[in-house]
Amino acid sequence: VTVRLLADLHTHTVASGHAYSTVTELAGAARDKGLELIAVTDHGPACPGAPHPWHFLNLKVVPSVLGGVRILKGIEANPVPDTANGIDLDDASLAKLDFVAVGMHPGTGWDDAGVDERTDGLLRALENPLVDMLTHPGNPSFPLDIARVVEAAVRHGVIVELNNGSFEPSMSRSRSTSGELEFARAAVEAGALVAITSDAHYHAHVGRFERAIAIAEELGIPEERIVSRDAASVLAHLRARRERPRLDLGGVA
Ligand SMILES: [Zn+2]
Ligand SMILES: [Zn+2]
Repeated sequence: VTVRLLADLHTHTVASGHAYSTVTELAGAARDKGLELIAVTDHGPACPGAPHPWHFLNLKVVPSVLGGVRILKGIEANPVPDTANGIDLDDASLAKLDFVAVGMHPGTGWDDAGVDERTDGLLRALENPLVDMLTHPGNPSFPLDIARVVEAAVRHGVIVELNNGSFEPSMSRSRSTSGELEFARAAVEAGALVAITSDAHYHAHVGRFERAIAIAEELGIPEERIVSRDAASVLAHLRARRERPRLDLGGVA
């Protein structure tokens, strides 16, 4: 049985600095592909070229529903060594967002760190109750202690991402396939919740899941463990974790 997924929890707009579509274009592409929901997760301020914190605070102006597609106003934040909460956006701002992903990226303070130091930094972020999802954890540029990260994700109910781009030979992280696969296998065995995402940096790539779905089938991930299977599952999961003060505001297409 081929899984059909109706939500994409990882997409970037032009605001990320190295992505090329607007939120309106992402929503249009999602609608054309029959998706029910996307999370717009531009890079947190620590990434080179990423937006200022005001970008995330002002996401309230974007409608919650665009062309019939539910839009989660989110961030792909960075664990960082040098802020009060260990993340590149403060807790008061993160709390206002509909969806908070975190992942390791170049130029955010970990390029020369050792595995233990980097893992400690990431675990601090995963322990933050405002964090919902961990992105591309098997990136070989940023080796982590997989067992510790998986244990923390399961303990804190953080979704582990299967990033289609990480399994795509033509994409920049293609060489991370084996690392991502190793991480995914460990996460599944530990009982982690999973989301299959596109990490689209261009609207035509929204909802592109084929390779990650193939991996999920190979690993035998039960469909009920895939939070991104539809909008209702995503919203129920997020609401159960914490209050999302803006989730239902401005729902005008
Ligand atoms: Zn990323
Ligand atoms: Zn991303």
